[in-house]
Amino acid sequence: MDTHVETLIVGAGQAGLALSRHLTDRGRDHVILERHRVAERWRSERWDSFRLLTPNWLTRLPGMAFDGADPDGFMTRAAIVEFLETYARSFHAPVRSGVTVRRVRRDTDHWVVETDGQRWRAANVVVATGHHDQPRIPRIARALPHGVTQLHTSRYRNPAQLPHGGVLVVGAGPSGQQIAEELARAGRRVVIAAGRHRTLPRRYRGRDTHWWMQQMGAFDRTIDSLADPQAVRSTPAFVLAGGRTDLDLRRLVANGVIPTGRLAGVMGSTAWFADDLAATVAAADRNRQAFSASVDDFVARSGVAAAHPEDAPPPPGSWAHRTPRQVQLDRTGIRSVVWATGFRQSFDWMDRYAPWGLQIGEIVLPDRFAFAGRSIGEVGIRSRVGCSVIGIERQSFTISNPGPSSHLFPGDRLLVLGTDEQINAARGYLLADRAVDGGDDTFRDLAVELAEIERDLGDLTGLRFAVTPGFVDVR
Ligand SMILES: Cc1cc2nc3c(=O)[nH]c(=O)nc-3n(C[C@H](O)[C@H](O)[C@H](O)COP(=O)(O)OP(=O)(O)OC[C@H]3O[C@@H](n4cnc5c(N)ncnc54)[C@H](O)[C@@H]3O)c2cc1C
Repeated sequence: MDTHVETLIVGAGQAGLALSRHLTDRGRDHVILERHRVAERWRSERWDSFRLLTPNWLTRLPGMAFDGADPDGFMTRAAIVEFLETYARSFHAPVRSGVTVRRVRRDTDHWVVETDGQRWRAANVVVATGHHDQPRIPRIARALPHGVTQLHTSRYRNPAQLPHGGVLVVGAGPSGQQIAEELARAGRRVVIAAGRHRTLPRRYRGRDTHWWMQQMGAFDRTIDSLADPQAVRSTPAFVLAGGRTDLDLRRLVANGVIPTGRLAGVMGSTAWFADDLAATVAAADRNRQAFSASVDDFVARSGVAAAHPEDAPPPPGSWAHRTPRQVQLDRTGIRSVVWATGFRQSFDWMDRYAPWGLQIGEIVLPDRFAFAGRSIGEVGIRSRVGCSVIGIERQSFTISNPGPSSHLFPGDRLLVLGTDEQINAARGYLLADRAVDGGDDTFRDLAVELAEIERDLGDLTGLRFAVTPGFVDVR
Protein backbone atom coordinates (compact mmCIF):
# COMPACT_ATOMS: atom_id res chain seq x y z
CA MET A 1 0.00 0.00 0.00
CA ASP A 2 1.26 3.50 -0.82
CA THR A 3 2.27 5.83 2.00
CA HIS A 4 1.16 9.43 1.54
CA VAL A 5 3.27 12.39 2.54
CA GLU A 6 3.07 16.03 1.58
CA THR A 7 6.78 16.53 0.89
CA LEU A 8 9.35 13.83 0.31
CA ILE A 9 13.02 14.79 0.44
CA VAL A 10 15.61 12.49 -1.13
CA GLY A 11 18.93 12.70 0.74
CA ALA A 12 19.91 13.57 4.30
CA GLY A 13 22.90 15.78 3.64
CA GLN A 14 22.96 19.36 4.80
CA ALA A 15 20.51 20.55 2.13
CA GLY A 16 17.87 17.90 2.88
CA LEU A 17 18.22 18.51 6.62
CA ALA A 18 18.03 22.29 6.29
CA LEU A 19 14.83 22.04 4.29
CA SER A 20 13.45 19.59 6.84
CA ARG A 21 14.15 22.12 9.58
CA HIS A 22 12.15 24.78 7.72
CA LEU A 23 9.25 22.38 7.13
CA THR A 24 9.34 21.26 10.77
CA ASP A 25 9.18 24.88 11.93
CA ARG A 26 6.07 25.35 9.82
CA GLY A 27 4.46 22.10 10.97
CA ARG A 28 4.47 20.65 7.45
CA ASP A 29 4.20 16.94 6.83
CA HIS A 30 7.40 15.53 5.31
CA VAL A 31 9.92 12.70 5.33
CA ILE A 32 13.59 12.38 4.32
CA LEU A 33 14.67 9.17 2.62
CA GLU A 34 18.42 8.55 2.89
CA ARG A 35 20.03 5.53 1.30
CA HIS A 36 22.74 5.26 3.96
CA ARG A 37 23.10 7.50 7.01
CA VAL A 38 22.79 11.21 7.79
CA ALA A 39 25.88 13.05 6.41
CA GLU A 40 26.97 10.00 4.44
CA ARG A 41 29.20 11.91 2.01
CA TRP A 42 31.38 13.12 4.84
CA ARG A 43 31.55 9.66 6.39
CA SER A 44 32.46 7.55 3.41
CA GLU A 45 33.57 9.83 0.57
CA ARG A 46 36.33 11.94 2.14
CA TRP A 47 39.89 11.04 3.06
CA ASP A 48 41.14 10.56 6.65
CA SER A 49 43.00 13.87 7.00
CA PHE A 50 40.17 15.84 5.37
CA ARG A 51 39.25 19.21 6.77
CA LEU A 52 36.62 21.60 5.58
CA LEU A 53 38.06 24.50 3.66
CA THR A 54 35.28 26.72 4.97
CA PRO A 55 36.03 28.09 8.47
CA ASN A 56 34.03 26.95 11.49
CA TRP A 57 32.19 30.27 11.90
CA LEU A 58 30.69 29.70 8.47
CA THR A 59 29.28 26.33 9.49
CA ARG A 60 25.69 27.22 10.18
CA LEU A 61 22.36 25.80 9.18
CA PRO A 62 18.87 27.16 9.77
CA GLY A 63 18.46 27.12 13.55
CA MET A 64 21.96 25.93 14.46
CA ALA A 65 25.42 27.42 14.08
CA PHE A 66 28.89 26.31 15.15
CA ASP A 67 29.46 27.51 18.69
CA GLY A 68 32.70 25.73 19.58
CA ALA A 69 35.96 27.08 20.89
CA ASP A 70 37.75 27.69 17.59
CA PRO A 71 35.58 29.71 15.18
CA ASP A 72 38.52 30.30 12.85
CA GLY A 73 39.45 26.61 12.70
CA PHE A 74 38.44 24.04 10.06
CA MET A 75 36.34 20.99 10.92
CA THR A 76 37.58 17.46 10.56
CA ARG A 77 35.46 14.83 8.86
CA ALA A 78 34.30 13.45 12.21
CA ALA A 79 33.36 16.92 13.45
CA ILE A 80 31.18 17.61 10.40
CA VAL A 81 29.39 14.29 10.82
CA GLU A 82 28.79 15.05 14.47
CA PHE A 83 27.55 18.55 13.65
CA LEU A 84 25.02 17.24 11.12
CA GLU A 85 23.90 14.38 13.37
CA THR A 86 23.36 16.80 16.26
CA TYR A 87 21.45 19.06 13.90
CA ALA A 88 19.15 16.24 12.74
CA ARG A 89 18.50 15.22 16.36
CA SER A 90 17.85 18.81 17.46
CA PHE A 91 14.48 18.93 15.69
CA HIS A 92 13.81 15.19 15.32
CA ALA A 93 14.29 15.28 11.57
CA PRO A 94 12.07 12.52 10.12
CA VAL A 95 14.95 10.66 8.45
CA ARG A 96 14.43 7.10 7.22
CA SER A 97 17.98 5.79 6.85
CA GLY A 98 18.94 2.85 4.65
CA VAL A 99 16.17 3.62 2.13
CA THR A 100 17.26 4.08 -1.47
CA VAL A 101 14.97 5.90 -3.85
CA ARG A 102 14.84 3.76 -6.99
CA ARG A 103 12.38 5.67 -9.11
CA VAL A 104 10.43 8.92 -9.16
CA ARG A 105 7.64 9.32 -11.64
CA ARG A 106 4.64 11.48 -12.08
CA ASP A 107 1.09 10.23 -11.70
CA THR A 108 -1.53 12.88 -12.53
CA ASP A 109 -1.32 15.23 -9.54
CA HIS A 110 1.18 13.30 -7.40
CA TRP A 111 4.71 12.02 -7.52
CA VAL A 112 5.12 8.29 -7.08
CA VAL A 113 8.39 7.47 -5.32
CA GLU A 114 9.53 3.88 -5.34
CA THR A 115 12.14 2.72 -2.85
CA ASP A 116 13.61 -0.71 -2.30
CA GLY A 117 10.87 -1.56 0.17
CA GLN A 118 7.99 0.84 -0.03
CA ARG A 119 6.04 3.08 -2.37
CA TRP A 120 5.27 6.69 -1.50
CA ARG A 121 2.92 9.26 -2.98
CA ALA A 122 3.92 12.87 -2.46
CA ALA A 123 2.62 16.23 -3.56
CA ASN A 124 6.16 17.62 -3.54
CA VAL A 125 9.49 15.92 -4.12
CA VAL A 126 12.80 17.61 -3.37
CA VAL A 127 15.89 15.92 -4.73
CA ALA A 128 18.70 16.78 -2.30
CA THR A 129 21.20 14.19 -3.46
CA GLY A 130 24.03 16.68 -3.86
CA HIS A 131 26.17 18.00 -6.64
CA HIS A 132 29.08 15.69 -5.83
CA ASP A 133 27.29 12.47 -6.55
CA GLN A 134 29.00 10.10 -8.96
CA PRO A 135 32.79 10.12 -9.50
CA ARG A 136 33.65 11.56 -12.87
CA ILE A 137 36.51 9.55 -14.36
CA PRO A 138 37.62 10.25 -17.95
CA ARG A 139 37.65 7.48 -20.55
CA ILE A 140 41.44 7.65 -20.66
CA ALA A 141 41.36 5.62 -17.45
CA ARG A 142 40.57 2.50 -19.49
CA ALA A 143 43.84 2.83 -21.39
CA LEU A 144 46.02 2.55 -18.28
CA PRO A 145 47.98 -0.68 -17.89
CA HIS A 146 46.26 -3.29 -15.69
CA GLY A 147 48.98 -3.22 -13.06
CA VAL A 148 48.32 0.42 -12.21
CA THR A 149 46.00 0.93 -9.23
CA GLN A 150 43.37 3.58 -9.90
CA LEU A 151 41.00 5.29 -7.56
CA HIS A 152 38.86 8.39 -7.43
CA THR A 153 39.33 10.97 -4.66
CA SER A 154 36.01 9.87 -3.12
CA ARG A 155 37.61 6.47 -2.47
CA TYR A 156 41.04 7.75 -1.41
CA ARG A 157 41.69 7.48 2.33
CA ASN A 158 45.44 7.85 3.02
CA PRO A 159 48.88 7.20 1.44
CA ALA A 160 49.18 3.73 3.00
CA GLN A 161 46.19 2.57 0.96
CA LEU A 162 48.17 2.87 -2.29
CA PRO A 163 50.80 0.37 -3.44
CA HIS A 164 54.41 1.45 -2.84
CA GLY A 165 55.85 3.70 -5.50
CA GLY A 166 55.00 6.89 -7.29
CA VAL A 167 51.52 8.33 -7.83
CA LEU A 168 50.04 10.28 -10.70
CA VAL A 169 47.32 12.65 -9.45
CA VAL A 170 45.08 13.81 -12.28
CA GLY A 171 43.42 17.14 -11.55
CA ALA A 172 44.60 20.17 -9.61
CA GLY A 173 41.40 21.29 -7.91
CA PRO A 174 41.36 21.45 -4.10
CA SER A 175 41.12 17.66 -3.67
CA GLY A 176 43.89 16.92 -6.18
CA GLN A 177 46.26 19.47 -4.68
CA GLN A 178 45.56 18.47 -1.08
CA ILE A 179 46.03 14.77 -1.81
CA ALA A 180 49.16 15.39 -3.92
CA GLU A 181 50.68 17.30 -1.03
CA GLU A 182 49.79 14.60 1.49
CA LEU A 183 51.34 11.92 -0.72
CA ALA A 184 54.52 13.95 -1.27
CA ARG A 185 54.87 14.53 2.45
CA ALA A 186 54.51 10.78 2.98
CA GLY A 187 57.61 10.36 0.81
CA ARG A 188 55.91 9.42 -2.46
CA ARG A 189 57.11 10.61 -5.83
CA VAL A 190 54.09 12.55 -7.09
CA VAL A 191 53.27 13.86 -10.54
CA ILE A 192 50.21 16.10 -10.75
CA ALA A 193 48.54 16.66 -14.12
CA ALA A 194 46.95 20.09 -13.79
CA GLY A 195 43.71 20.96 -15.52
CA ARG A 196 41.71 24.15 -15.15
CA HIS A 197 41.49 25.43 -11.61
CA ARG A 198 41.31 28.73 -9.76
CA THR A 199 43.57 29.89 -6.97
CA LEU A 200 42.60 32.13 -4.08
CA PRO A 201 44.59 33.50 -1.20
CA ARG A 202 43.67 31.74 2.05
CA ARG A 203 43.78 35.12 3.76
CA TYR A 204 43.86 38.61 2.32
CA ARG A 205 44.23 41.96 4.04
CA GLY A 206 44.12 40.34 7.44
CA ARG A 207 40.95 38.26 6.96
CA ASP A 208 40.01 34.81 5.76
CA THR A 209 38.90 34.77 2.13
CA HIS A 210 35.46 33.49 3.16
CA TRP A 211 35.02 36.49 5.42
CA TRP A 212 35.48 38.75 2.42
CA MET A 213 33.13 36.61 0.34
CA GLN A 214 30.48 36.96 2.99
CA GLN A 215 31.00 40.72 3.29
CA MET A 216 30.72 41.13 -0.46
CA GLY A 217 27.44 39.21 -0.56
CA ALA A 218 28.69 36.08 -2.34
CA PHE A 219 26.71 33.80 -0.03
CA ASP A 220 23.48 35.69 -0.50
CA ARG A 221 23.36 34.92 -4.18
CA THR A 222 21.08 32.06 -5.15
CA ILE A 223 21.41 29.89 -8.22
CA ASP A 224 18.22 31.27 -9.75
CA SER A 225 19.53 34.83 -9.49
CA LEU A 226 22.43 34.04 -11.80
CA ALA A 227 22.23 34.94 -15.46
CA ASP A 228 23.80 31.66 -16.53
CA PRO A 229 23.65 28.98 -13.81
CA GLN A 230 25.09 26.37 -16.16
CA ALA A 231 28.22 28.44 -16.74
CA VAL A 232 28.70 28.76 -13.00
CA ARG A 233 28.39 25.02 -12.58
CA SER A 234 31.14 24.42 -15.09
CA THR A 235 33.48 27.01 -13.56
CA PRO A 236 36.48 25.18 -12.09
CA ALA A 237 36.73 24.82 -8.33
CA PHE A 238 38.88 27.22 -6.38
CA VAL A 239 41.78 25.78 -4.49
CA LEU A 240 41.95 26.26 -0.76
CA ALA A 241 42.88 24.06 2.16
CA GLY A 242 41.70 24.19 5.77
CA GLY A 243 44.53 26.10 7.49
CA ARG A 244 46.10 29.51 7.39
CA THR A 245 48.31 29.26 4.33
CA ASP A 246 47.73 29.27 0.57
CA LEU A 247 47.68 26.10 -1.43
CA ASP A 248 48.79 26.25 -5.03
CA LEU A 249 51.17 24.56 -7.42
CA ARG A 250 54.06 26.70 -6.14
CA ARG A 251 53.65 25.15 -2.71
CA LEU A 252 53.40 21.66 -4.20
CA VAL A 253 56.58 22.20 -6.23
CA ALA A 254 58.34 23.32 -3.06
CA ASN A 255 57.23 20.01 -1.53
CA GLY A 256 58.73 18.02 -4.39
CA VAL A 257 55.63 17.43 -6.50
CA ILE A 258 56.22 17.43 -10.28
CA PRO A 259 53.50 19.35 -12.13
CA THR A 260 52.59 18.71 -15.76
CA GLY A 261 49.96 19.93 -18.18
CA ARG A 262 46.66 18.15 -18.66
CA LEU A 263 46.75 14.38 -19.08
CA ALA A 264 46.22 14.05 -22.83
CA GLY A 265 46.50 10.33 -23.44
CA VAL A 266 47.93 6.99 -22.41
CA MET A 267 49.59 4.51 -24.72
CA GLY A 268 51.02 1.34 -23.24
CA SER A 269 52.72 2.52 -20.11
CA THR A 270 53.42 6.01 -21.42
CA ALA A 271 51.30 8.90 -20.20
CA TRP A 272 51.19 11.99 -22.42
CA PHE A 273 50.62 15.50 -21.19
CA ALA A 274 49.53 18.69 -22.93
CA ASP A 275 51.90 21.62 -23.17
CA ASP A 276 49.55 23.92 -21.29
CA LEU A 277 50.81 24.19 -17.72
CA ALA A 278 52.05 27.80 -18.00
CA ALA A 279 48.70 28.90 -19.44
CA THR A 280 46.81 26.94 -16.76
CA VAL A 281 48.81 28.54 -13.94
CA ALA A 282 48.39 32.01 -15.47
CA ALA A 283 44.61 31.52 -15.68
CA ALA A 284 44.45 30.22 -12.09
CA ASP A 285 46.45 33.24 -10.90
CA ARG A 286 44.17 35.64 -12.76
CA ASN A 287 41.32 34.46 -10.56
CA ARG A 288 43.35 35.25 -7.48
CA GLN A 289 44.18 38.72 -8.83
CA ALA A 290 40.54 39.37 -9.69
CA PHE A 291 39.48 38.34 -6.20
CA SER A 292 42.09 40.60 -4.55
CA ALA A 293 41.04 43.49 -6.79
CA SER A 294 37.38 43.00 -5.87
CA VAL A 295 38.28 43.06 -2.16
CA ASP A 296 40.36 46.24 -2.65
CA ASP A 297 37.47 47.83 -4.46
CA PHE A 298 35.03 46.76 -1.74
CA VAL A 299 37.31 48.17 0.99
CA ALA A 300 37.58 51.47 -0.87
CA ARG A 301 33.82 51.72 -1.35
CA SER A 302 32.66 50.49 2.06
CA GLY A 303 35.40 51.91 4.25
CA VAL A 304 35.60 48.61 6.17
CA ALA A 305 38.79 48.33 8.22
CA ALA A 306 41.40 46.19 6.48
CA ALA A 307 45.13 45.53 6.64
CA HIS A 308 47.37 46.62 3.76
CA PRO A 309 47.13 44.55 0.59
CA GLU A 310 49.65 41.75 0.36
CA ASP A 311 51.70 41.32 -2.80
CA ALA A 312 50.56 38.72 -5.29
CA PRO A 313 52.86 35.68 -5.44
CA PRO A 314 55.70 35.93 -7.98
CA PRO A 315 55.14 34.42 -11.42
CA PRO A 316 55.77 30.69 -11.47
CA GLY A 317 59.36 29.56 -11.96
CA SER A 318 60.75 27.63 -14.88
CA TRP A 319 58.84 24.55 -13.66
CA ALA A 320 55.71 25.87 -15.36
CA HIS A 321 57.45 26.11 -18.74
CA ARG A 322 59.64 23.03 -18.80
CA THR A 323 57.20 20.30 -17.94
CA PRO A 324 57.51 16.68 -19.00
CA ARG A 325 55.35 15.94 -22.04
CA GLN A 326 55.47 12.22 -21.41
CA VAL A 327 56.15 9.98 -18.46
CA GLN A 328 56.96 6.26 -18.60
CA LEU A 329 54.86 4.99 -15.74
CA ASP A 330 56.73 1.72 -15.34
CA ARG A 331 60.23 3.20 -15.57
CA THR A 332 59.46 6.03 -13.17
CA GLY A 333 57.84 3.65 -10.68
CA ILE A 334 54.38 5.21 -10.87
CA ARG A 335 52.07 2.45 -9.71
CA SER A 336 48.90 4.31 -8.92
CA VAL A 337 46.67 7.02 -10.30
CA VAL A 338 44.33 9.17 -8.21
CA TRP A 339 41.55 10.69 -10.29
CA ALA A 340 40.86 14.14 -8.86
CA THR A 341 38.56 14.85 -11.76
CA GLY A 342 35.42 15.80 -9.90
CA PHE A 343 31.87 14.53 -9.84
CA ARG A 344 28.75 14.45 -11.91
CA GLN A 345 25.13 14.27 -10.90
CA SER A 346 23.17 11.18 -11.75
CA PHE A 347 19.41 11.00 -11.85
CA ASP A 348 19.12 7.54 -13.43
CA TRP A 349 16.41 6.72 -10.95
CA MET A 350 14.24 9.65 -11.96
CA ASP A 351 12.05 9.45 -15.03
CA ARG A 352 13.87 11.77 -17.36
CA TYR A 353 10.92 13.99 -18.06
CA ALA A 354 9.30 13.78 -14.67
CA PRO A 355 10.43 17.26 -13.59
CA TRP A 356 8.48 18.75 -16.46
CA GLY A 357 5.41 16.67 -15.82
CA LEU A 358 6.03 14.64 -18.96
CA GLN A 359 5.66 10.91 -19.35
CA ILE A 360 6.47 8.42 -22.00
CA GLY A 361 3.25 6.67 -22.96
CA GLU A 362 2.65 3.61 -25.12
CA ILE A 363 -0.12 3.38 -27.68
CA VAL A 364 -0.70 0.13 -29.55
CA LEU A 365 -2.37 0.79 -32.89
CA PRO A 366 -5.42 -1.47 -33.38
CA ASP A 367 -6.25 -3.66 -36.38
CA ARG A 368 -8.91 -1.20 -37.47
CA PHE A 369 -6.50 1.69 -37.43
CA ALA A 370 -8.10 4.62 -39.18
CA PHE A 371 -4.80 6.20 -40.23
CA ALA A 372 -3.26 2.94 -41.49
CA GLY A 373 -0.48 3.61 -43.98
CA ARG A 374 -0.39 7.35 -43.36
CA SER A 375 2.80 9.07 -42.30
CA ILE A 376 3.28 10.70 -38.90
CA GLY A 377 3.39 14.07 -40.64
CA GLU A 378 0.02 13.45 -42.25
CA VAL A 379 -1.55 12.22 -39.04
CA GLY A 380 -0.31 15.31 -37.17
CA ILE A 381 -0.23 13.97 -33.62
CA ARG A 382 1.94 16.77 -32.34
CA SER A 383 0.00 19.58 -33.95
CA ARG A 384 -3.34 18.10 -32.82
CA VAL A 385 -2.66 16.98 -29.27
CA GLY A 386 0.80 18.32 -28.49
CA CYS A 387 2.72 15.14 -27.78
CA SER A 388 5.59 13.78 -29.83
CA VAL A 389 6.15 10.30 -31.24
CA ILE A 390 9.63 9.36 -30.03
CA GLY A 391 9.67 5.71 -31.08
CA ILE A 392 7.82 3.09 -33.09
CA GLU A 393 8.18 -0.57 -32.23
CA ARG A 394 7.17 -2.86 -35.01
CA GLN A 395 7.23 -6.66 -34.91
CA SER A 396 10.67 -6.97 -36.42
CA PHE A 397 12.39 -3.67 -35.64
CA THR A 398 12.30 -0.42 -33.75
CA ILE A 399 12.46 3.09 -35.15
CA SER A 400 13.95 5.09 -32.35
CA ASN A 401 13.68 8.55 -33.83
CA PRO A 402 10.88 8.54 -36.37
CA GLY A 403 10.68 11.39 -38.83
CA PRO A 404 7.61 12.95 -40.47
CA SER A 405 7.64 10.44 -43.31
CA SER A 406 7.59 7.35 -41.06
CA HIS A 407 4.39 5.45 -41.77
CA LEU A 408 2.06 4.00 -39.17
CA PHE A 409 0.51 0.56 -39.37
CA PRO A 410 -1.85 -1.56 -37.26
CA GLY A 411 0.06 -3.41 -34.56
CA ASP A 412 2.73 -0.71 -34.22
CA ARG A 413 3.55 0.27 -30.66
CA LEU A 414 4.06 4.03 -30.49
CA LEU A 415 6.09 5.64 -27.74
CA VAL A 416 4.83 9.15 -27.23
CA LEU A 417 6.13 11.87 -24.97
CA GLY A 418 3.77 14.34 -23.35
CA THR A 419 1.72 15.16 -20.29
CA ASP A 420 -0.80 12.59 -19.10
CA GLU A 421 -3.57 14.62 -20.70
CA GLN A 422 -1.76 14.85 -24.02
CA ILE A 423 -1.03 11.14 -24.06
CA ASN A 424 -4.68 10.35 -23.34
CA ALA A 425 -5.76 12.74 -26.06
CA ALA A 426 -3.33 11.12 -28.52
CA ARG A 427 -4.71 7.71 -27.58
CA GLY A 428 -8.27 8.86 -28.18
CA TYR A 429 -7.34 10.50 -31.47
CA LEU A 430 -5.39 7.53 -32.84
CA LEU A 431 -7.79 4.86 -31.65
CA ALA A 432 -10.89 6.58 -33.04
CA ASP A 433 -12.14 4.42 -35.87
CA ARG A 434 -12.60 7.28 -38.29
CA ALA A 435 -9.72 9.31 -39.60
CA VAL A 436 -10.02 13.06 -39.29
CA ASP A 437 -7.83 15.23 -41.41
CA GLY A 438 -4.86 15.85 -39.20
CA GLY A 439 -1.80 16.88 -40.99
CA ASP A 440 0.92 19.36 -41.09
CA ASP A 441 3.31 18.33 -38.36
CA THR A 442 6.53 20.23 -38.75
CA PHE A 443 9.34 18.02 -37.70
CA ARG A 444 12.62 19.12 -36.40
CA ASP A 445 15.45 17.20 -34.91
CA LEU A 446 14.02 15.33 -31.92
CA ALA A 447 16.69 16.67 -29.59
CA VAL A 448 15.79 20.23 -30.55
CA GLU A 449 12.13 19.48 -30.11
CA LEU A 450 12.66 17.99 -26.66
CA ALA A 451 14.85 20.90 -25.64
CA GLU A 452 12.04 23.23 -26.61
CA ILE A 453 9.51 21.24 -24.65
CA GLU A 454 11.81 21.28 -21.65
CA ARG A 455 12.30 25.04 -22.00
CA ASP A 456 8.59 25.72 -22.36
CA LEU A 457 7.72 23.62 -19.37
CA GLY A 458 10.79 24.54 -17.34
CA ASP A 459 8.82 27.10 -15.37
CA LEU A 460 6.87 24.31 -13.77
CA THR A 461 9.94 22.95 -12.03
CA GLY A 462 9.85 25.58 -9.32
CA LEU A 463 6.28 24.69 -8.41
CA ARG A 464 6.38 21.15 -7.28
CA PHE A 465 9.76 19.71 -7.95
CA ALA A 466 13.18 20.93 -6.98
CA VAL A 467 16.73 19.75 -7.24
CA THR A 468 18.85 21.47 -4.62
CA PRO A 469 21.43 23.69 -6.28
CA GLY A 470 24.86 22.30 -6.84
CA PHE A 471 26.75 24.00 -4.10
CA VAL A 472 25.03 24.46 -0.78
CA ASP A 473 27.45 25.79 1.76
CA VAL A 474 27.50 24.36 5.26
CA ARG A 475 25.92 27.37 6.82
C1 LIG B 1 36.16 16.96 -1.50
C2 LIG B 1 35.07 17.92 -1.16
C3 LIG B 1 35.29 18.92 -0.24
C4 LIG B 1 34.29 19.82 0.11
N1 LIG B 1 34.55 20.78 1.03
C5 LIG B 1 33.58 21.63 1.40
C6 LIG B 1 33.81 22.62 2.40
O1 LIG B 1 34.90 22.77 2.92
N2 LIG B 1 32.77 23.42 2.74
C7 LIG B 1 31.54 23.31 2.15
O2 LIG B 1 30.64 24.06 2.51
N3 LIG B 1 31.31 22.39 1.20
C8 LIG B 1 32.29 21.56 0.80
N4 LIG B 1 32.06 20.63 -0.17
C9 LIG B 1 30.76 20.62 -0.80
C10 LIG B 1 29.80 19.84 0.05
O3 LIG B 1 30.23 18.52 0.22
C11 LIG B 1 28.46 19.83 -0.63
O4 LIG B 1 28.11 21.15 -0.93
C12 LIG B 1 27.42 19.25 0.29
O5 LIG B 1 27.75 17.95 0.66
C13 LIG B 1 26.10 19.30 -0.42
O6 LIG B 1 25.14 18.90 0.49
P1 LIG B 1 23.80 18.22 -0.02
O7 LIG B 1 22.96 18.01 1.18
O8 LIG B 1 23.28 19.00 -1.17
O9 LIG B 1 24.26 16.82 -0.64
P2 LIG B 1 25.08 15.62 -0.02
O10 LIG B 1 25.88 15.99 1.16
O11 LIG B 1 25.80 15.03 -1.18
O12 LIG B 1 23.94 14.63 0.49
C14 LIG B 1 23.14 13.90 -0.41
C15 LIG B 1 22.62 12.68 0.30
O13 LIG B 1 21.71 12.02 -0.59
C16 LIG B 1 21.83 10.62 -0.43
N5 LIG B 1 21.32 9.98 -1.65
C17 LIG B 1 21.83 10.05 -2.89
N6 LIG B 1 21.06 9.34 -3.77
C18 LIG B 1 20.04 8.81 -3.05
C19 LIG B 1 18.93 8.00 -3.38
N7 LIG B 1 18.70 7.60 -4.63
N8 LIG B 1 18.07 7.63 -2.38
C20 LIG B 1 18.27 8.06 -1.10
N9 LIG B 1 19.33 8.84 -0.74
C21 LIG B 1 20.20 9.22 -1.69
C22 LIG B 1 23.33 10.43 -0.22
O14 LIG B 1 23.62 9.21 0.46
C23 LIG B 1 23.69 11.66 0.63
O15 LIG B 1 23.65 11.40 2.00
C24 LIG B 1 33.04 19.72 -0.52
C25 LIG B 1 32.80 18.72 -1.46
C26 LIG B 1 33.79 17.83 -1.78
C27 LIG B 1 33.53 16.75 -2.80
